[in-house]
Amino acid sequence: MIYFDNASTTQISERALNIYNEVSKTCFYNSSSLHKGGVLAKTRLEKARQDILNCINGQVGDRLIFCSGATEANNMALFGLTRKNQSILVSVGEHPSVYNTAMALSQRGNEVDFVKLDSEGTVDFDDFKQKVCSKKYDLVSIMFANNETGAINDIRSLCEIAKQANPKCVFHSDCVQAFGKIDVLVDNLGVDSISLSAHKINGPKGVGALYVKKGVSFNPIVYGGGQESNLRSGTENLPAICAFAEAAIEKCEALKSNFDNVSKIKDTILKKFDDNGFEYEVNGSKTGSPYVLSVSLDGVKGEVLVHKLEMDDIYIGTGSACSSKSSDNRILSAMSKEKGKILGNIRPSFSASNTVAEAEIVAEKIIQYATELRNL
Ligand code: PMP
Repeated sequence: MIYFDNASTTQISERALNIYNEVSKTCFYNSSSLHKGGVLAKTRLEKARQDILNCINGQVGDRLIFCSGATEANNMALFGLTRKNQSILVSVGEHPSVYNTAMALSQRGNEVDFVKLDSEGTVDFDDFKQKVCSKKYDLVSIMFANNETGAINDIRSLCEIAKQANPKCVFHSDCVQAFGKIDVLVDNLGVDSISLSAHKINGPKGVGALYVKKGVSFNPIVYGGGQESNLRSGTENLPAICAFAEAAIEKCEALKSNFDNVSKIKDTILKKFDDNGFEYEVNGSKTGSPYVLSVSLDGVKGEVLVHKLEMDDIYIGTGSACSSKSSDNRILSAMSKEKGKILGNIRPSFSASNTVAEAEIVAEKIIQYATELRNL
């Protein structure tokens, strides 16, 4: 089996799985319990929190709130960092967990505006500047790396511009597709909050975190027993949290070498296409994340190609798994792609454990099946 759908989820790593099993067996206690077991669990929990904060250069007093994944983290950010009647700016390229939450906030009465994407899938700088300079937004939310195209936004500059226009503005960034792949260092980016998900970095599913900078006011959206310093109630999923921290450390240790490996994989596919005179169009910029390749193939339905490849035990994605049920694609439409290009979109996405040999096989199969479909 060749698995090239790592932007939708990844296989848990050996190291993360070992920690998951070890904590499940030997440290299954409730970290809120007062006995020795509870204290042991609390120590593991706080170590995992500190390990992840270290990976993002979190500073003393910064908070990392564990939760069920980045969907919840993004909901917490948008609801928890704003009050009714405050204004919000998000990009049209955001993941549904930001985009649809912004829509829900607009139903609640918040003023919500959307910033455009340029043809390469990054936030349109001029539109962004014009918007933040013409209105004082209370919250701005812009993702770091796009899950559909791999387009990378210049978060540091966008954050700087937003804060110059309104020093009180809170800047959130969905860093799910960037964390563990490219440097996500909160002090360098200047952001107030970021969301993370374990299952995109070879950690377990169903666990993630919201980082909130020291001093930034945050109201919980989940109430209950007061876990996570009263910011997100519910018994912490300690085995998953410890495995998340292990996966994060593993990724951050090998960030550069993984980046180089994955770049070779993406380049191999594109070279094979070029060497065979195969017609395709890359969606996104050449400087985007090497972990994602979004291409449109004229005269081919991406969905049909995915099913042909699956018969050879090759798994790739078309657009995001979260929106694959819809025939439209908000991100590609925002990049002014025509309908044919949207229908003909495929999105192979990689992990460091993939190989160049796999890339060659997948590229050959894509060429073969796409050519057959075009000749029908
Ligand atoms: N943001 C981005 C950019 C994503 O790619 C995803 C996962 N598709 C999410 C948020 C949601 O993460 P989770 O699956 O942990 O809820």
